[in-house]
Amino acid sequence: MRVLAESAHESDGLVFIMDWATQKHVYLAGSPEKFFGIPREEFCHNPRVWVQSLTAYDRATLVGLREELTKHRRGVRLVKAQGGDGVLRTLRCAAHVVEIDGRMLVCGSALAVEMGGEASAMGSIRDAVEHAREGLAVTDAAGILVYINREHVEMFGYASGTELVGKPWQTFYTPEVVRYVESVAFPGLIERGLWRGDLMAKKKDGTLFHEELSLSLMPGGGIVCNCRDVSEEKAIAKRLGQYEELFRVFSNAMTTGVLIRPIDGPYEFVNAVAAGWFGLSAVIPNGSKAGWNPKIPDPAFAPWAKESLRVESTGETVVFDFPFSLGGRERIFEVQMTPLYVVSNKLSHVCTMARDVTQQRLLEQQAEATARRSLEYSAMQREFISMVSHEFRTPLTSIQGVHYLLGKKAGQLPVQQVGDIERLLGLQGEALSNLKELVDQVLLLNRLEHATAGAPLPMVCVTECFSGLIDGLNISVAHNRIQLELDLPVDYAAQFDAAKMRAACENLISNGLKYSAEETKVRVKVMQAPHGWCFSVIDQGRGIPEADQAKLFQPFHRASNVQGVPGTGLGLAIVRRVVDFHGGSISFASSVGAGSEFLLVFPSVASPRPVLPEIGAAPTSNAPVFPIATTRL
Ligand code: ADP
Repeated sequence: MRVLAESAHESDGLVFIMDWATQKHVYLAGSPEKFFGIPREEFCHNPRVWVQSLTAYDRATLVGLREELTKHRRGVRLVKAQGGDGVLRTLRCAAHVVEIDGRMLVCGSALAVEMGGEASAMGSIRDAVEHAREGLAVTDAAGILVYINREHVEMFGYASGTELVGKPWQTFYTPEVVRYVESVAFPGLIERGLWRGDLMAKKKDGTLFHEELSLSLMPGGGIVCNCRDVSEEKAIAKRLGQYEELFRVFSNAMTTGVLIRPIDGPYEFVNAVAAGWFGLSAVIPNGSKAGWNPKIPDPAFAPWAKESLRVESTGETVVFDFPFSLGGRERIFEVQMTPLYVVSNKLSHVCTMARDVTQQRLLEQQAEATARRSLEYSAMQREFISMVSHEFRTPLTSIQGVHYLLGKKAGQLPVQQVGDIERLLGLQGEALSNLKELVDQVLLLNRLEHATAGAPLPMVCVTECFSGLIDGLNISVAHNRIQLELDLPVDYAAQFDAAKMRAACENLISNGLKYSAEETKVRVKVMQAPHGWCFSVIDQGRGIPEADQAKLFQPFHRASNVQGVPGTGLGLAIVRRVVDFHGGSISFASSVGAGSEFLLVFPSVASPRPVLPEIGAAPTSNAPVFPIATTRL
């Protein structure tokens, strides 16, 4: 002790021996007045009083020294203290614990040092703590705040630390939270020396925020508190949680199976439908479920695994049918696997979506079979009609021959029989030509129904074609009833099938002649149209009743006012097929007792469809044909 005392006198410092149990000084050399501004008497009487002269940071430092003494029986710390002379000194506080006769004594010294390397390092640490981005507060064993850094002060909405130092820790919480800390946090802190948790903390203005708090217990009973304002993180986490829940509910309500896995691992997400179908499960983060890894082969999933790995290697979406036995029933799933680029632009996940298409595939197969059968049937039908028509034609020709011969021989019969026989032969001849016309038209219609665009159509000189046609027809009718108005350049040519076109025009002209009186004229006009040419037949005949107009182009339909006029009801159906074949359009206007006009418009080439000239819009190729306007002509 003497040596210690001498060294204290010689050095610029303080030497002390303190009883660890009572915390009372048993020996003191040097001037506490000089280093801490505390009179010797008071210093000895109240050994902790000098701590008051330290800054809050240094008080916390000293708690660390005490901890070190407990653990290692010796320790050194640098602290700053204000002396009675007003000088702020850096003191090197060193102490060690000795045991003499079962009594624990702390022998220590506090020596003033120059602000050298160690001291400035301490200064940096002090600054770091002060400016840390995390709140830091230190309380003494009684829970009174002894230090609070800037971040902490600001976090709780105070202006400076001095507002808080000396206040109890409860300042930061509502009474309920205080009760929670006392009943939950403190027992844990005492047991493990550490406690972490989230609390609702209270700012100076009374507003609450989410605080993430960690408490560490110091040997002297003081507490170091680290805290962060995690309100924003909590709000984000809450929102994410809501989205996650929404996604979960939505995906479980879907009738599509959804499975998502990272490229190098088992499924992370499997919705309820997929789990039910395939028995696959998502891996729960703690790994309690095995999940299913496509890299580990499972015979039932071999094609699935192959495609899944293909998506990984190529980065392309694949779609395939996946047959799978479900509850003993064979099902077909349409599976789509899509690469996902969740993180940056790097392929990170594969998303699989599966739909049960068993029923759909069955229907598709049935539809295919039906379409095939229907094609076969229509080919059969075509062949049948063609065959039957030909079969009819041959005997018809023979009967017509016999009819002709009988007509010639009739002259040789007794005079009184000639009249009867000739009348009967006339009736037979009319029936025969009707039947022949019917057969010819059925054959033509059948051919047109199945005519497909083959080689490009030839260019035909329109004026030549129609002059020839009308001249030919006029020969067979009395008084040259057909008047042709050709309003086209002489060499005007268009692309069409001349035979088909002639059949259509003949039908329209013969209708015009048939359904009008013998002495009236039928006008045929051939003119240029805005994007092609057109053909119209105008008569002054009986016209078509309105009720019949909608069905006019259907095969075998004849208007109610055809009495006495022979016909098959196939002529206009043929006209319509010819017009469709050439990409043209038809329109008509008719008025009972006044006459009718039929107008065909053709593009200058087979397609596209032409723009109509004056008499209303044309019906489209396959649409039902309705009159656009009914006018007196
Ligand atoms: P049909 O062989 O009976 O003339 P179409 O198919 O050529 O058969 O015509 C269908 C029906 O349209 C005819 O039966 C007739 O009632 C009516 N029709 C066609 N053209 C005219 C017309 N120019 N004048 C009056 N009625 C017509």
